[in-house]
Amino acid sequence: MPNSLSILHKLEHPLFDKYQVSVQIKRDDQLHDIISGNKWRKLKYNLTQITEGNYVGALTFGGSYSNHIHAFAYACKLQNIPCIGIIRGEENYANNFTLSWARHWGMRCHFVDRKTYRRRFDTDYLSELKQLYPDYFIIPEGGSNSLAISGVAEVITELNQQTEFDTLLTPVGSGGTLTGLIAGDCNEQYPQHKIVGVAVLKQAEYLLDDIESLLHSRIKSQKTPLLTMHSNWHLLTEFHRGGYGKFSNADVERLLEFNQQTGVIFEPVYSGKMILAMLDLLTHGYFKPGERIVLLHTGGLQGLGGMIEQGRLNSDEWPAPKTVLDGTF
Ligand SMILES: *Cc1c(COP(=O)(O)O)cnc(C)c1O
Repeated sequence: MPNSLSILHKLEHPLFDKYQVSVQIKRDDQLHDIISGNKWRKLKYNLTQITEGNYVGALTFGGSYSNHIHAFAYACKLQNIPCIGIIRGEENYANNFTLSWARHWGMRCHFVDRKTYRRRFDTDYLSELKQLYPDYFIIPEGGSNSLAISGVAEVITELNQQTEFDTLLTPVGSGGTLTGLIAGDCNEQYPQHKIVGVAVLKQAEYLLDDIESLLHSRIKSQKTPLLTMHSNWHLLTEFHRGGYGKFSNADVERLLEFNQQTGVIFEPVYSGKMILAMLDLLTHGYFKPGERIVLLHTGGLQGLGGMIEQGRLNSDEWPAPKTVLDGTF
């Protein structure tokens, strides 16, 4: 994996002036052309584990438009790791935007129905898969395991070298990224920050338990008990805008306007929901005057390809990612 540091820059917007906050954006979306954002962070140590361990390949899970599947397939291609994707949905998704790339890069896709896909965390299903694919390293959906936490924690290390800030905002899907940020912020050398996750799915309260247990397993596994408990983090669950992958025309309009005003592209499934939440929080007085906010741009722009393909977004307004037919990246 190419090792690099993502840049941090200021965002300008009239509401930031009005409410006297400063907002910077950490551009993890620019870490890599294809292995975007938080998926790059989460895969980093997983890939080391696969290449240094005794594995013949890697297997993971995802939906048919998954950013994780897309990133994982390319990362495995870079490292010559045979890879398998257990994909929720039917065979006819194989040629959609995301999966045609993943397959182009060598991923073997196995389609399973919703009922089977729901078993993706069950130990008996995982042992079945281990028998089918012996010596494959299995990475959970979204890449969120303990190795991912270590990768994401490095965002905080970088930020502490780049700036002083009060509050960090991130979108939340499986919670792996938020957990990594919290874990990284338990550092004796620097003050802890307020870390705020914006859940993009409905009824995301169950994630609180997942995050706590991921944090606890990390505390147990650390050789040096550096970790002091972090209590200044929050999961906001009321900004999902109808559920995972859902958004209204008005949401898209507001986001397009924000993208135009700031010159940064946020898509409506993850990072865009963080932006819309931030704007609502601002006008409701959630941030104090003088508050120094950092937004984590988690990437996910390949997702625009699928949404344009499905007619959910307009290709005149959104930058269409390249298709396989356009040639290689
Ligand atoms: C996967 C993804 C997330 C969610 O990350 P989790 O670690 O699953 O919470 C956020 N933003 C983007 C762009 C993603 O692709």
